[in-house]
Amino acid sequence: MATFLFDQMVFGPVKSRRFGKSLGINLLPDNKKICSFNCLYCECGWTGKSESVFPSAGNVKEALKDRLETMALHNDLPDTITFAGNGEPTLHPDFLDIMKFTIALRDQHAPLSKVAVLSNSTTLDRSDVKEALILADYNVLKLDAGTDKTFNLINNPSRPLLLKDIVNNLKAFQRNVIIQTLFFRGMFAGEFIDNSLAVDLYPWLDYLCEIAPREVMIYSLERGTPALDLKKLSQEELQAISMMVEARGIKTQVY
Ligand code: SF4
Repeated sequence: MATFLFDQMVFGPVKSRRFGKSLGINLLPDNKKICSFNCLYCECGWTGKSESVFPSAGNVKEALKDRLETMALHNDLPDTITFAGNGEPTLHPDFLDIMKFTIALRDQHAPLSKVAVLSNSTTLDRSDVKEALILADYNVLKLDAGTDKTFNLINNPSRPLLLKDIVNNLKAFQRNVIIQTLFFRGMFAGEFIDNSLAVDLYPWLDYLCEIAPREVMIYSLERGTPALDLKKLSQEELQAISMMVEARGIKTQVY
């Protein structure tokens, strides 16, 4: 399966495993990915090195307003309005303003819809990003590993980052956070990677206990990946991980 990019600012609605009928907002360009990670499994392909050009907040607002008005007219409103798309949404310099007008438009046109953000947790040291994420109904933040070695292999951050610093930032949400973790195994650049092995799994569980999230979303590969030799975990394996999390008093969803 090939990787792909979203070609619109407001896209879908798509049927999402996690968010039901989900209207997507892509705050990144429509022809390339911009991200502070370069995950081996990213469905948008590898992260490039070109200049970052974001759509204007005004254009996003207009596109979202138009789409919600049309959906309301057809009695076809989404379950969720989801910030996702071609990379990391919180890198947009006006993310806080965009979140604020998204909430206002939701309240006006689709009061029953939830607002979700899928973020990779790399911008949590910015107060404006934190303020924006707290406004979302589903603040879904990534934690894919329990050791720095596996974190660097899987997520390939664009600047040096330590898991313990990310975890400290996640802890600051005081339960207003949902952790998302994608499990897989495979080979890349001569290295075997498996974030479900005990060496990563137990420290990941310890980190979860520190963070005390509202929920953990556990899933595996679903679409094409840029690294070709990756394998998804079975539902049984994901369920076994879920049981270990739940044994620590933390709710999970397996997808
Ligand atoms: S954080 Fe998300 S968008 Fe960025 S590289 Fe990883 S999977 Fe892709």
